[in-house]
Amino acid sequence: ESPENKKVYEVLEQVAEFYHSKLREDRKALDYLRDRGIDSSTIKKFHLGYSSSSEELTQLLKDLNALEIYARTGNVIQIDEGKYRDLFRNRLIIPIRDSRGRVVGFGGRLISGEGPKYINSPESDIFKKRELLYGFYEGLNYLRELKSALLVEGYFDVIALHQEGLRNAVATLGTSLGKEHASLLSRVVEKVYLLFDGDEAGRKAMRLAIPHLLKEGLEVYPVFLPEGLDPHDFILKEGKTALKEVIESSPDIFGLLREKIVKGYDVESSVKDFTYYVSFMKDEIKAYTLLSELSKLTRIPIEVLSAKMYRTPERSQ
Ligand code: ATP
Ligand code: MN
Ligand code: MN
Ligand code: MN
Repeated sequence: ESPENKKVYEVLEQVAEFYHSKLREDRKALDYLRDRGIDSSTIKKFHLGYSSSSEELTQLLKDLNALEIYARTGNVIQIDEGKYRDLFRNRLIIPIRDSRGRVVGFGGRLISGEGPKYINSPESDIFKKRELLYGFYEGLNYLRELKSALLVEGYFDVIALHQEGLRNAVATLGTSLGKEHASLLSRVVEKVYLLFDGDEAGRKAMRLAIPHLLKEGLEVYPVFLPEGLDPHDFILKEGKTALKEVIESSPDIFGLLREKIVKGYDVESSVKDFTYYVSFMKDEIKAYTLLSELSKLTRIPIEVLSAKMYRTPERSQ
């Protein structure tokens, strides 16, 4: 790690601290969090913050003698000689840590006014969305202990689930799940529960995430939430016990498809999906065993199933 990067990490930590202290002074942001059911110990644990003034942040960076080095992260933008604008101004701040616990960037949520709902720090050599999972560091002990992760879509899903004791919740930073994320998860867990939003986008994201997870040898448990709800909404509406019940009663992806086939529901597409997902499995013996079971169940010869599997165009994904 270069001395320059070391300095950037230090400054990021101090900026996170600055935002965190500003939140305590901002009634509007505190009310916003209270209305969303986020309590003060959670605010502390995730070090949530608020950006109220570009001038004060600029002053802090000047005092730290770090204005230029910090501007290179793209988190502040120079608008004039000695004048900088905070990319996150007027936003609720969600500090993002890497797996070693260092602040590497921020997510910012709009709580009033116009603009995109969320923004993130720009990509850089220390902020790589492809390699980061929000909540991974905060929940690391639980991930290891439980050997399972709850993969959700949003920052607030992670925060709310942790608050309710489901401390193995992690999220990508608004991007789709890729092989680096799956690899990171496979280092600490065996099972991944997919708790994506109960909408078309969520279900599509789920289908795209599954191959990456299977390739890493992870067991995948899709959890379907009621239409229109994400995990945070579900907890607010139905409570954490109900959410835990939905999670615990969800079969793994192959169990789920087998159930549909047995019940005669979407048989053709379920058989296709089954062979499609099997084709990504890391463990070939497990894959073969699953295909034999499917063959018995459907009375389709295994050769035919395998052939079908290799014809699946998406296999190269
Ligand atoms: P909230 O509960 O705060 O309204 P959400 O997390 O439920 O937000 P979604 O629309 O479901 O919001 O988005 C999931 C995630 O996708 C967000 O947490 C964020 O990381 C990312 N995201 C959402 N909208 C944007 C955006 N306009 N630009 C960039 N990333 C976004
Ligand atoms: Mn969504
Ligand atoms: Mn959502
Ligand atoms: Mn939400």
